Amino acid sequence: MTITRRKFLTNGMAGVGTVGLASWSLPAFAQGEIMPKSGPRVVVIGGGWGGATAAKYIRLQDRSIEVVMIERESVFRSCPISNWVIGGLKEMGDITVSYNALKTNHGIKVVHDTVTEIDPGRQMVRISDGMISYDRLIVSPGITLLNDEIDGLDAVGRAVFPAAWSAGAETQQLREELAAMPAGGTVVLSVPFGPYRCPPGPYERASLIADYLKKNKPGSKLIVLDSNEKIISKGKLFKAAWDAYYEGIIDYRTNNAVIKVDASTRTISTDFDDIRADVGNIIPNQRASDTVDLAGLRPDGRRWCPVNPWTYQSTIHPEIHVVGDATDATTVGKVPKSGFIANSMAKVCAAATVALINGEEPARPSMANTCYSLVSGTEGISVTAVYDWDDASGKMAAIKGAKGLSPGRFEIVAANADDWARAIWSDMLG
Ligand SMILES: Cc1cc2nc3c(=O)[nH]c(=O)nc-3n(C[C@H](O)[C@H](O)[C@H](O)COP(=O)(O)OP(=O)(O)OC[C@H]3O[C@@H](n4cnc5c(N)ncnc54)[C@H](O)[C@@H]3O)c2cc1C
Repeated sequence: MTITRRKFLTNGMAGVGTVGLASWSLPAFAQGEIMPKSGPRVVVIGGGWGGATAAKYIRLQDRSIEVVMIERESVFRSCPISNWVIGGLKEMGDITVSYNALKTNHGIKVVHDTVTEIDPGRQMVRISDGMISYDRLIVSPGITLLNDEIDGLDAVGRAVFPAAWSAGAETQQLREELAAMPAGGTVVLSVPFGPYRCPPGPYERASLIADYLKKNKPGSKLIVLDSNEKIISKGKLFKAAWDAYYEGIIDYRTNNAVIKVDASTRTISTDFDDIRADVGNIIPNQRASDTVDLAGLRPDGRRWCPVNPWTYQSTIHPEIHVVGDATDATTVGKVPKSGFIANSMAKVCAAATVALINGEEPARPSMANTCYSLVSGTEGISVTAVYDWDDASGKMAAIKGAKGLSPGRFEIVAANADDWARAIWSDMLG
């Protein structure tokens, strides 16, 4: 499919040409605006992997565009490397980065608040103090965990069985519970049905928990309850490492979705078994964050947001862009929900947003991904792909010959993973 310049200007500039110009011309007080603007403005919701990257890369390309980034957390905490914290290899401080450089180096207005309303018609978002208007909106709000799908996984259940699937208090809780568990204990880790955030993430976590148990808690075991019929990412490499290092520690069970938990007895149930866990890490199924529903960006019955992957414009509201985990891979192409991909999408989206605001045609997109996983305290594995636009499908497609798995597990890959994380945090937030 070839996207013509006319299509972009009618589709992409619709907001700027109609509602957007109206909001420039109306007096600010008439709209409840708390941050009157004097030129083009992009509002970004979410200061995670997609949002922070998009905010920075717009300012790198066009300083005349004002960027307001709204993020409810006061600091950035990275999910990549958070499994290393759970496994005792890093501390929370090692995966925490300030937002200050986005303000001082790039002039981004970083607002720490929660967006509670999006009005696509008036092109405004609401935070606690009032409304902020935009010419284009970029939404990268991550995921919502579907706790309700597991009986008993209410607030009390979550307190006993944390997911730790966004880096933060639950990551630290899991780390401390493992450290406090007596030797000979049972840890249970559940894997949700795909698609979910970070396909290899649960298996890396299993590896690092097993590594920790092997070194520190003799006689303990880790039961992995996988909803899926097999390990869904880097399967052979994980399995080879588990066979080599964790025999008698990891008990891996496929087609074992968790259906019920009982916090009072610390019991986790599948269709086949009731297991008492000393430490339980339940990772529920997932969908796009509730934030996307503020603007109806997720159609009824769908878990993710459909987008045009040339620009990451929502197919529902073209003046709003969606990037990161919240996007629907059936509209993007076969890309994983990873931080690297969110960063890549955000760069495409930033370039397209600058082009659309300036009345230009967005450039042909390309993207890349590498996912590193540790399989022990010292060795890592990786999977890589480079993506180009595919005219036939109108989506991104992996380039043949530019993708693949690491041929085995290596110390150098573990070192690369550490270097990659610090480099990409700097790319997003430095
Ligand atoms: C254990 C684990 C390990 C991982 N390892 C890797 C890895 O090695 N490599 C890799 O590439 N990826 C990895 N990932 C995946 C990666 O973390 C995600 O793909 C990435 O975070 C997606 O970025 P995002 O911008 O979509 O969402 P996020 O990074 O979650 O950012 C969303 C932000 O939006 C904010 N927000 C949401 N709604 C609102 C609102 N209404 N108002 C204000 N703020 C709001 C949230 O507070 C959050 O900060 C891992 C994930 C996990 C859980």
